[in-house]
Amino acid sequence: MTRKIVTIVGARPQFIKAAAVSREILKHPGEIEEVMVHTGQHYDPNMSQVFFDELEIPAPKYNLEVSGGGHGAMTGRMLEGIEKILLEEKPDWVLIYGDTNSTLAGALAASKLHIPVAHVEAGLRSFNMRMPEEVNRILSDRVSTLLLCPTDVAVENLAREGIVAGVHNVGDVMYDVALYYRDRARSESRILQSLGLQEGGFVLTTCHRAENTDSRERLTSILSALSQIATELPVVLPLHPRTRKLVADYGLESYLQGLTVVEPLSFLDMVALEQSAKVILTDSGGVQKEAFFYQVPCITMRDETEWVETIELGWNRLVGANREQILEAYSQALECRTEVQGAPYGTGVASRVILEELLKEG
Ligand code: UDP
Repeated sequence: MTRKIVTIVGARPQFIKAAAVSREILKHPGEIEEVMVHTGQHYDPNMSQVFFDELEIPAPKYNLEVSGGGHGAMTGRMLEGIEKILLEEKPDWVLIYGDTNSTLAGALAASKLHIPVAHVEAGLRSFNMRMPEEVNRILSDRVSTLLLCPTDVAVENLAREGIVAGVHNVGDVMYDVALYYRDRARSESRILQSLGLQEGGFVLTTCHRAENTDSRERLTSILSALSQIATELPVVLPLHPRTRKLVADYGLESYLQGLTVVEPLSFLDMVALEQSAKVILTDSGGVQKEAFFYQVPCITMRDETEWVETIELGWNRLVGANREQILEAYSQALECRTEVQGAPYGTGVASRVILEELLKEG
């Protein structure tokens, strides 16, 4: 009997992770059928459609077109829309990714209808309950049947919350993705040439976490550090739409002048830049790990990280949003000559293991 899976995605990092698992699903025709639901959380073409095209993700059968508004309104509208779809599709599993409002809406809609939930990236914790992502993760994990953890630390986090049934360390799907697209990005992307950059001759940065963008003080401090770094090396900043809006609201545009500010990049362009950057400064979860996979020193502009392995292995430095600390870590990162020791994110077969679990259970 064919298993039907409804996959809920809505935000950029979810498209990227779903690409890896969907590719694996397509290797099992007759055994498993995937129905893709896009909540609409990210809707700009360069935050959404470009990923479906470039990463060959199956076109969504449903698009709820829910974007903007507060967390409550957004999650509520998604919940209503997803519930209708689940009643119509009657899947065997609902597959959710990561920690966004789309993740939580999928988890709640499915669990109330007694449809088993499989959560990819279960068990990650920052232990900062002020992060919307932390609330989404904890609640989603609590109602999930299959908790597909990327690391041993994630498994331990769940055990501390009393969640042990259905918990599996499958490895990190982002590692699968990094291995799959590494060479393709190098051969297909022309981003270095189009931005006039030299291999190892620039810094790459991203900044979009609410804790940084929603605070004028933190965002000013980060941008001030970046503009200082840009006096030494080109600093490329693919600017997330929410950050762009808040920079304008706070009147901080002058800090962007010395930077190479570009629109959000396609995945292959982003991966090409990551592999060639001298140092990466970021507040993104995915980018921290990609820096690790591609062995580029990383500075994380947050007060905590879910990806503690990158820190423990000496590859990533946690500096918060303090200008002086960012600059000091940057100087140290320039000298960084370590090599990645150990494989905390598995062996690059997470998607295959996830499929095995989905076909086993339920
Ligand atoms: N990314 C991208 N283009 C960009 C910025 C990021 O393709 O302009 C990719 C990046 O390589 C990583 C993912 O988006 O795979 C991370 O997404 P994001 O930072 O939005 O979310 P997070 O990982 O923090 O949840």
